[in-house]
Amino acid sequence: MKITKELLTLNQDIAGQEIGIPVYYVNCGKDDAPSVYIQSAVHAAEMQGSAVIFQLLTFLPKLGLNTNFILVPNCNPFGRTQRAGEYLQGRFDATTGNNWNRFYHYDESLVTKFLNSLEGSESLNDKANEKRIVSDFRFALSKSIEDLTKGEWGINTAQYLNHKLQSLAVKADLVIDLHTGPSSTRHIYSPDFLVEHARRFNIENIISIPCKFAGALDEASFIPWRLLQQGLCEKGVEFQYGVKAFTVELGSQENICLTQAYEDMKGILNFLNTEGLVTGNPKIDANDITVTALKNYKTLFSKHAGMVEYLAKAGDKVEKGQTIARVLNSLEFDNDRGLLEIKSPSSGIVILHYPSAAVQVGTQLYKIATDA
Ligand SMILES: [Zn+2]
Repeated sequence: MKITKELLTLNQDIAGQEIGIPVYYVNCGKDDAPSVYIQSAVHAAEMQGSAVIFQLLTFLPKLGLNTNFILVPNCNPFGRTQRAGEYLQGRFDATTGNNWNRFYHYDESLVTKFLNSLEGSESLNDKANEKRIVSDFRFALSKSIEDLTKGEWGINTAQYLNHKLQSLAVKADLVIDLHTGPSSTRHIYSPDFLVEHARRFNIENIISIPCKFAGALDEASFIPWRLLQQGLCEKGVEFQYGVKAFTVELGSQENICLTQAYEDMKGILNFLNTEGLVTGNPKIDANDITVTALKNYKTLFSKHAGMVEYLAKAGDKVEKGQTIARVLNSLEFDNDRGLLEIKSPSSGIVILHYPSAAVQVGTQLYKIATDA
């Protein structure tokens, strides 16, 4: 096993000083080994995943590895330099408001074109052919990402960042994008057809997402392969391969905990073990896991401006009609509207709430995995 490090320049300040991201390559030394890509902190204030990658790099040399790794612990050199007051303004581009996790590249027509190009080719059912299709399709995906960054008219900063990261991730068979919520419990976004696999991360809450692109890295990574698989299936071709991709939300932003990062790492290693990618990993204590379809993962927007006390915390179970927060409005302190109660519209599990007590009308107060 060998670990190498590269400093990849993605940004420069106006004096031309390069601002890079460290990329760690872990090579297991086996020919034809699969590849795992893990990045953290594309939303720059979401740093727990960086601590998890630290733990991984410390721990991987003790394990049996059947896979290579590409590990990017602080993948957003733009977001990580934007501060607002005491905090990183790391979720959005401060100039444009663009979400740093919404500009990955996906082009459905590329899948169609690729499928058409296979028309008439012989022995598609040959197992050796699957390998060739995987390699050709990966090349096509890779090239389409590369071509975009070379266009005459340029691309916006979030696109640039996302495409550069995607050009690393596209090489991998498994993509794990480490995030956190604002004030949040641990949860994982899993493609609906991979939910049983996602359980092995041992994270209490799984949000099951459909095969629908909304700009994020996990979707951009698994959807083209899923469509390829379905397209080949329609042609009567048996094709097993698919890229697995997950977005893992490791608690709250602006915070790291190395003890918890060790536990988070154990969950990731447990998943990798069941995929046959690592051996000798520490055992986990299995958690109870709740799976919620994305359509039942609801946002509660504030109807009031004011100062909020969050009574229901991330991870709490709540009942329909339960008072989950209270809002103070100092203009009404002399009457009964000075303190308003906010009730949960549904029973479910509180996944996260807004990090600040100061809210306005329309602020995302809570996100709740509701009971369907
Ligand atoms: Zn995030």
